Amino acid sequence: MVHCPDCGTTLTEAADIDFTETDAEMGFIAASKRFYTASCAACGTTIGSGVAGAKAGGAGGGAV
Ligand SMILES: [Zn+2]
Repeated sequence: MVHCPDCGTTLTEAADIDFTETDAEMGFIAASKRFYTASCAACGTTIGSGVAGAKAGGAGGGAV
């Protein structure tokens, strides 16, 4: 079970966590990865971040 380090809210459901996807908008990220940050739905503190649906080196997908 996860607790918000800032406000102490117990985060038990997805609704308690505000996921924000960042579609590689930051300039220093050239790869077509989708990053997300997980924030507390109560106070907005960023709890963690990661890569959603990562395609290693952009090798996935297949030809179009
Ligand atoms: Zn919080």
